[in-house]
Amino acid sequence: MFDKILIANRGEIALRVVRACQEMGIKSVAVHSTADSDAMHVRMADESICIGPPPGTASYLNTAAIISACEITGAQAIHPGYGFLSENANFVQAVEDHEITFIGPTAEHIRIMGDKITAKETAKNLGIPVVPGSEGGVPDLDTAAKVAEGMGFPVIIKATAGGGGRGMKVAKTAKDLEVAFRTARSESKAAFGNDEVYIEKYLQKPRHIEVQVFGDGKGNAVHLGERDCSLQRRHQKVFEEAPGPVITPEMRAEIGGICADAVAKINYIGAGTVEFLFEDGEFYFIEMNTRLQVEHPVTEAIFGVDLVREQIRVAAGLPLEFSQDDLVVNGHSIEVRLNAEKLPNFTPSPGRISQYHAPGGLGVRMDSALYDGYSIPPYYDSLIGKLIVHGRDRPEALARLRRALGELIIDGIDTSVPLFAALLDEQAVQDGSYDIHWMEKWLETNLG
Ligand code: ADP
Repeated sequence: MFDKILIANRGEIALRVVRACQEMGIKSVAVHSTADSDAMHVRMADESICIGPPPGTASYLNTAAIISACEITGAQAIHPGYGFLSENANFVQAVEDHEITFIGPTAEHIRIMGDKITAKETAKNLGIPVVPGSEGGVPDLDTAAKVAEGMGFPVIIKATAGGGGRGMKVAKTAKDLEVAFRTARSESKAAFGNDEVYIEKYLQKPRHIEVQVFGDGKGNAVHLGERDCSLQRRHQKVFEEAPGPVITPEMRAEIGGICADAVAKINYIGAGTVEFLFEDGEFYFIEMNTRLQVEHPVTEAIFGVDLVREQIRVAAGLPLEFSQDDLVVNGHSIEVRLNAEKLPNFTPSPGRISQYHAPGGLGVRMDSALYDGYSIPPYYDSLIGKLIVHGRDRPEALARLRRALGELIIDGIDTSVPLFAALLDEQAVQDGSYDIHWMEKWLETNLG
């Protein structure tokens, strides 16, 4: 086992990794920008080291500074958290070249899954059901028209290099195709420096269901069920739950088994998430994330496992601590993402926290790096915390969430907290009867 791990991240996820290290008796090293000298992850880690000025590109994305920090502190492994360098194959390669262990999959697996066409092709070959669409990239408008007509409208044009919902355009009818095709290409070129796009059938009322997988890198893998992340704003998740309200134990075993077998076949190591759209009882693969997800705590809650501990163990060459048979769903868990944002426009709201009180009690977990008097810097993502609840069933989890939101105090800045109180009053949220478009429509009527 490692003696010391460096955490190449900040905020709540850096703190999350520090906590796992402490419980495992491993020393932790925090890295930080000059804007984060007073951050909680720096205070909680055993050691800390400044890696550059505030902008992410100069600090948390600075490969040379992060590798130097490992050499200086003697850290033997790097945990990347999510975002920043967590899915950057070149970073992973550089880490391995310096004989430091990357806590996550290999550079090769990250590369395969980072390119959406290759990822889809790989998934299909491994027996995972995919969204009907073009065979690979679509080079010109004529080909796009042939593919779209063959499949039937509506269709969605997506960037091969895509991420964060960019370079994605829907064509409802043949008339919209030309504009959608050209804008998807130019957006993709601007965002990713690559204008290759592909086409998929546009699903009109799907849910977002993702399967958590875990591999030991030696051909063994398990699945930890699914999460339903259908409540989204601009293709970004805001409310996640496990298990999925519309997924039966039989469906879970089937799709989970398919995903676990697929990643076992490629000797996948560590945590991964296979994302699907789910409509009329069918699963359609959209992408795979080769890292820990923001919403991993809901899975931890229902299975009673620590996914970060497990990531560290398999990276150190140890076997998984659980088998598929050990993984039995217990109750229901919900997470809401707390952002420093001002409603109704969701404009970033950095600033000083004048008062902070975290909710507690049975079945409540607050993952946040906030504290009284902390100043949220304006340079990074607006996620400031995650409130996770666990109950015996979905109604209990919903009631607990309402109670915990009532206890939470974050004064001095604007946050997305009032949004959740309003969402909990909605019948669709109480019933779990929404699709991925429900929240956008609700926001238009209620906040627009
Ligand atoms: P990104 O990596 O840019 O986030 P994804 O492929 O993961 O892109 O898709 C993000 C979201 O876009 C999905 O959760 C869903 O809301 C929507 N989406 C993607 N593909 C389709 C599709 N074929 N039909 C309908 N919606 C889609």
